[in-house]
Amino acid sequence: MQRIVFVGIPGVGKTTVIEKVRESINEARIVNFGSVMLENAIKSGAVKHRDELRKLPVRRQRMLQQKAAKIISAMRGTVLVDTHLFIRTKEGFWPGLPEYVLKLLKPTHLILIEAEPEEIAERRQKDRTRYRDVVSLEDIKEELFFARVFIASCSNITGAPFLIVKNREGRAEDASNIITSVIRGV
Ligand code: ATP
Ligand code: AMP
Ligand code: MG
Repeated sequence: MQRIVFVGIPGVGKTTVIEKVRESINEARIVNFGSVMLENAIKSGAVKHRDELRKLPVRRQRMLQQKAAKIISAMRGTVLVDTHLFIRTKEGFWPGLPEYVLKLLKPTHLILIEAEPEEIAERRQKDRTRYRDVVSLEDIKEELFFARVFIASCSNITGAPFLIVKNREGRAEDASNIITSVIRGV
């Protein structure tokens, strides 16, 4: 059983890369952590779309997060989890993978997707499928820095190795090939 947890700042290309990885690993299934949270949030009428989740009070987000982690923890086989290291909330940066979540998820591998700050800014701007927060290039650089801090902490808590993979412009396939060979090699 492998649980590969994909993380990276918004718009870096996690979902794009993970879908390519899935194409080469037949037995794998993808679970988007935010989608599991959203399903429950919609049922209770708290939000209408995924980009409203981070606007909820942290107390409410935590309940949805814990529920999602429990649901995902019950999934067997090779699971590719699409999620976030931290969330930009009204109350400040809030961890997506605190200890109580990691204990349920039990990741075997942590994959941090990165890209150049300018590329991320452009990807966020161009993506019409989402309601993305508008932040400066400096803020994106800060997020990239925090991501490395957070992933090191997750690795320490879980004992799972972490890999940093660049999702270069127009080269999502290259990122997915690196990750696929790592997963296959284990
Ligand atoms: P979120 O955290 O908000 O879910 P994400 O990390 O999953 O974001 P994606 O939705 O995969 O990011 O990608 C954001 C945008 O960038 C999309 O429009 C996608 O098509 C584009 N994109 C992803 N990877 C690349 C790449 N290597 N080159 C160019 N565009 C890319
Ligand atoms: P995504 O499509 O990956 O951006 O997920 C949608 C939203 O779900 C994110 O913007 C966050 O608000 C929320 N989310 C995803 N993963 C987590 C997590 N591990 N903890 C808390 N919230 C999360
Ligand atoms: Mg995504």
